[in-house]
Amino acid sequence: MTEVDDLVQGVREGRRAAVSRAITLVESSKPGHRALARELLSGLDSARPPRAELSVRVGISGVPGVGKSTFIEALGGRLTRSGHRVGVLAVDPSSRRTGGSVLGDKTRMPDLAADEHAYIRASPSAGTLGGVARATSQAMLVLEAAAYDVVLVETVGVGQSETTVAGMVDTFLFLTLARTGDQLQGIKRGILELADVIAVNKADGDREAEARAAARELGGALRMVHGRDRAPAVVTCSGLTGAGVDDVWQRVVDHREHLGADGLAEKRAHQQLDFAWALVRDELEQRLRRSGPVRRVRSGVRELVLRGELPAVEAADRILAAYDDRDDAGPGPGVN
Ligand code: GDP
Repeated sequence: MTEVDDLVQGVREGRRAAVSRAITLVESSKPGHRALARELLSGLDSARPPRAELSVRVGISGVPGVGKSTFIEALGGRLTRSGHRVGVLAVDPSSRRTGGSVLGDKTRMPDLAADEHAYIRASPSAGTLGGVARATSQAMLVLEAAAYDVVLVETVGVGQSETTVAGMVDTFLFLTLARTGDQLQGIKRGILELADVIAVNKADGDREAEARAAARELGGALRMVHGRDRAPAVVTCSGLTGAGVDDVWQRVVDHREHLGADGLAEKRAHQQLDFAWALVRDELEQRLRRSGPVRRVRSGVRELVLRGELPAVEAADRILAAYDDRDDAGPGPGVN
């Protein structure tokens, strides 16, 4: 039996050590590992029962401090107690800058980390967002093969990470806080387009009434913009006390049911296509960066542009011409 066969079997049996090793493998960007990762994933895929229930994939986002880890701890515990197996993954492009992962850290979810029906994985700590997304979506497949039927993908409200996560889950949950003043201003516009469910968190103690009012206001505004049918549900919850957490989950389940089996399959298929292109764009950018000919013209072009002697459009043409002439390129059109 090869090492990969071994891993496939270990993952299918839900063995933690195998799951961890498999995820480490799919996170690796080494070319040799990539080939093994492909072998692993196709092994896991072919071992899947043909009519396996689709897992529930949920993205959870919100600014640092909104209470994501507290909420996931509360939700995850409820889910495992009701018989689910819960995997938690993180997408955190900022970890690249800090050099360490800030999300998915086990110490932030101590109960869930100790729960035998849950598996928490910190964000891969390096790489482009595309690379991290590739690792995360493959880690999701590993978890699903290991019979984790709920996968929560956590991300911070930074840059493109939310869009990336929304592109790999069935339902996108956005956690926010009650803020005085205009609710819509407190939230980036783009996120409202992505969110399927919005929860005003920390609705406890003194803040409960304020949170409820905020949720009503936001819900009303969204219904006006999107219409009653298409507006995301807006509810309140407290990850700390657990109040409303079941309701949030119910809204997630409702959203999935609203999609229906065909709608969900179609959504996932489109996500695959978009993701394929995102990976291509990511890889092209890497190749552009690594290209020898581009490196050779780069500093000259930079100088000229900074001195105002080369317009941006021409600079771009020069860089692209250098790239098309790249080391690994075959003869281009017209070359004989
Ligand atoms: P994250 O950065 O989004 O993961 O936020 P955390 O879960 O780490 O929470 C940030 C802070 O808010 C911590 O001090 C938590 O104790 C607190 N917190 C989290 N959830 C709640 C909540 O539901 N109610 C209240 N009052 N505080 C909370």
